[in-house]
Amino acid sequence: MTSRIRRWVETDTGHRVPNHKSKCRHMHGHRYRWEVELEGEVVTQSGVSEEGMLMDFSDISEILNKYIHDVVDHAFIVYESDEEAVAALSLMGDEHRTLTVPFVPTAENLAKWAFEQVDTHIKTSYGNSLRLRAFHVRETPKSWATWYSES
Ligand SMILES: [Zn+2]
Repeated sequence: MTSRIRRWVETDTGHRVPNHKSKCRHMHGHRYRWEVELEGEVVTQSGVSEEGMLMDFSDISEILNKYIHDVVDHAFIVYESDEEAVAALSLMGDEHRTLTVPFVPTAENLAKWAFEQVDTHIKTSYGNSLRLRAFHVRETPKSWATWYSES
């Protein structure tokens, strides 16, 4: 029997899509929602805190906060080859929260990036099967992208 659970965190984050044919080329931001989807079997050990759970939601939150929220909240995500934006952000000094990435920061690419940030931190101490199934990124209320694990 397989269960799936989801948990999200939100951030206010800037980006731009430098080659976009329309307004996404401008520096702007979104209220992003970063949502993990885990899959596996619930813990069956009697009497432990996680009995009946795939993984404790608060432990998932901790991972999302550390590896996503605290990295990109009130930050600007910039493509390393976006020379104009890289130059503009460098004027802001070292104190400015900038995340430079080797890809155009679209929702699709950010979903893959986020998946890779948290994947190795999804663990169980109880031998139950557990894996990161997917990472969903909401850019706007009407726009989502998902990166799925291989199998
Ligand atoms: Zn955008």
